[in-house]
Amino acid sequence: MSQHPVVAFIGAGNMARAIIGGLLENGFAPQNIWAAEPDAARLDDLAAQGLNTTTDNNAAVAAADLVVLAVKPQIMQAVATDLAPAASTHQPLFVSIAAGIGLDALDRWLGGNAAIVRCMPNTPSLVQTGASGLFANNRVNAVQREQATQVLQAVGIALWVQSEAELDAVTAVSGSGPAYYFLMMEAMTAAGIKLGLSEATARELTLQTALGAARMASSSDVDAAELRRRVTSPNGTTERAINSFQAGGFEALVETALTACRDRSVELA
Ligand code: NAD
Repeated sequence: MSQHPVVAFIGAGNMARAIIGGLLENGFAPQNIWAAEPDAARLDDLAAQGLNTTTDNNAAVAAADLVVLAVKPQIMQAVATDLAPAASTHQPLFVSIAAGIGLDALDRWLGGNAAIVRCMPNTPSLVQTGASGLFANNRVNAVQREQATQVLQAVGIALWVQSEAELDAVTAVSGSGPAYYFLMMEAMTAAGIKLGLSEATARELTLQTALGAARMASSSDVDAAELRRRVTSPNGTTERAINSFQAGGFEALVETALTACRDRSVELA
C-alpha cells in the first residue's frame, strides 16, 4: 500500500482544486488522485496534470480510499444518494466539506453504513492558509482520521472537535471569520482615508499591518493579549485607540456577532 491514500474528489470546483493543489505540493502522486465532475471541460487541466478524471462519480468512488464530497450543499442529497451502492460495496472514508449538512443526513443518503467525516473549511484554503474543523462519525477508524487530517492539512491547519455541535462554533470563528477581518480592513482603510491618506496608501498600510500582526501572533510564543500589551505604551497613541475600541464595547460586539453566526449555522443544519 502506498503511503498516501487514493483520494477522489466528487465535484472539481474551487475547493476541490485548492485541496488538489495542496496535495500535489505535499507529495501526493497525481495518479493517486481522482476528480469526478459532470462538466468534462473542467477536468481537462486536471487530466493534463496526470490526475485520473471521470464524469462518473461512482467510478471515482470505486477507486478511492478517501472520497471528498466537494459539491454545493443544494445538490449533496442527489449526489450522495447516487453513491450509496458504491459506498456499501467499497466502504471508503467520505469527507464532506459542504456547509450546513449534518452527519445524520449524510449517513442516511449514503446508505446508513458509511464512515464519514464532516469538515468545516474556510476560504483561505484557496491560498493554502485555511483553517478546518473536523468531526467524525463512529465508523471512522484511527487510520482514516489520520488520512482526513493529512488531506485537509494540505491547505492549512486541520483541528478535530469533540462534538458535531462544535462545528457551529468553528463556523462562527474560522468558517465565517475571514469576512470579519475583511470588514476590519474596510473600516481601517476608510478611516485612514478620512484622516488624509490616499486610498492606495490607506489600503496598502492596512493589508500589510493585518499580515504583519497575523505573522507575529502565529510565530510568537505569547498570546495576542500579551503582544497587544507590549505595543501599548502607557498614555501613548495605541492606548488611546484601544481605550476607544473598548469604550465602544468592542469585545461584547465580537461576542454578539459570533453568537449570531453560530445560531444561524444551527438554524441551517
Ligand atoms: P464550486 O461550485 O466551485 O464547485 C462545485 C463543483 O461541483 C462544480 O465544479 C460543479 O460542476 C460540480 N458538480 C455539479 N454537479 C455535480 C455532480 N452531480 N457530481 C459531481 N460534481 C458536480 O463550489 P466550491 O466553492 O468548490 O464549494 C464546494 C463545497 O465546499 C460546497 O459544499 C461549499 O459549501 C463548501 N465550502 C466552500 C468554501 C469555499 O471557500 N469556496 C468554504 C467552505 C466550504
